[in-house]
Amino acid sequence: MSDVTSSRIEGFHKMSPEARLQAVARQAGLDNEAVAGLADAASGQIDLADRLIENAISSMAIPVGIATNITVDGRDVLVPMATEESSVIAAVCNSAKRCRSTGGFRTSTSGPVMAAQIQLLGADDPENVRMKVLERIGDIRTICDATDPLLVKFGGGFRDLDIRVIGTPEGPMTVVHIIVDTRDAMGANAVNSMAEALAPKLEEWTGARSLLRILTNLADRRLARVRAVWPVDEIGGDRVRDDMLSAYHFADSDPYRAATHNKGIMNGISAVVLATGNDTRAIEAGAHAFTVRDGRYRSMTRWEKDGDGNLVGILEMPMAVGLIGGATKIHPTAQANLKILGVTTADELARIIVSVGLAQNFGAMRALATTGIQKGHMALHAQNVAMMVGAAGPEIDRVAEELKARGMVRQDVAEEILARLRADG
Ligand code: NAD
Repeated sequence: MSDVTSSRIEGFHKMSPEARLQAVARQAGLDNEAVAGLADAASGQIDLADRLIENAISSMAIPVGIATNITVDGRDVLVPMATEESSVIAAVCNSAKRCRSTGGFRTSTSGPVMAAQIQLLGADDPENVRMKVLERIGDIRTICDATDPLLVKFGGGFRDLDIRVIGTPEGPMTVVHIIVDTRDAMGANAVNSMAEALAPKLEEWTGARSLLRILTNLADRRLARVRAVWPVDEIGGDRVRDDMLSAYHFADSDPYRAATHNKGIMNGISAVVLATGNDTRAIEAGAHAFTVRDGRYRSMTRWEKDGDGNLVGILEMPMAVGLIGGATKIHPTAQANLKILGVTTADELARIIVSVGLAQNFGAMRALATTGIQKGHMALHAQNVAMMVGAAGPEIDRVAEELKARGMVRQDVAEEILARLRADG
């Protein structure tokens, strides 16, 4: 715990980021080094941070690395990934290389279609409300499209209605879904604005009261799918392939394993989502909700053996990412990363992201079914441990090398090695 004297800072949100940092430093008792560190971390980016979020005081850099070897639908692509976790990018590069001979990743998408929900309460007969809303689809289209003429100009806009009557502890509720093509936008603001504009009209037409009006992150109309084939020789033989299938069956049948298996997939996916300034939480929420859609939490991927004994992997999931809006358009790193990717539509980006997810899953299952996950982690992990105990400059590699050589990547051992190195001069 810090020494914060009070969590009240009068007028904090109105201060400049620099003044906020000073106020926090005073209140939390930060020394000059910590304050300088926070100021340096935001160097050149503090105005951007202040525009993106409230109460900004600094910025936090996440490493960006490039996944190589990836071919998506016949096109080679360099994929920027923003992650603080070691081994994630190496796993993708390695897995992508192993399926190049079969053409890499083949993808499809269902179109950039999002939905917002409007909750209607107090209706005597929810089924009747449902019919009354459906009768107004023409008016609803007009209201929604008028809310976002720019989106309509780019070929998007209102597409359809879906009206559900759900059971709740307080009785049935009518939920109106407006289905909207959001083109190259993720679309949260776009559909939320439409839902808010429409709600008063729904009240007028139905006599019900509208309460919540917000998009659903279960974007099950905005799916991206990928398939890839790994030749058995590239996997390491029949035994490894069969063990990988056993690993998959374990994950698909046990939520404890599935959570970790899917976390690995999201290591790849969230890293590209973040690198492009998209909303990692939106993608994570949609991914897990979609996975459990039949009532059982299971593997996000499917794996099987084809007639030639090769391993075929499939991933299908919601992929609500955009090139417009949020941080994508205004964050210079996101813009540069999109240039590296060479994508011009949100659809192309979605296809690349699921390809990375599938590659990541192949890499993790193969590592787990063979040498275990720690071997690949150790090189960078040993360096992290060295830095944790205070190693700097050339000391980091020397401590890390010895940790690995001794097969004991532990903080206490790192401390001992560092002390010895320093004593030896
Ligand atoms: P946005 O509103 O900033 O940009 C989208 C708008 O850009 C469109 O509505 C359209 O008017 C315009 N536009 C211009 N060119 C376009 C094109 N080629 N295709 C489509 N639209 C084009 O952003 P957004 O995508 O509506 O919202 C994304 C942001 O919303 C993210 O930052 C996300 O974090 C945030 N958000 C998410 C949630 C959630 O996921 N639950 C909720 C609220 C907000």
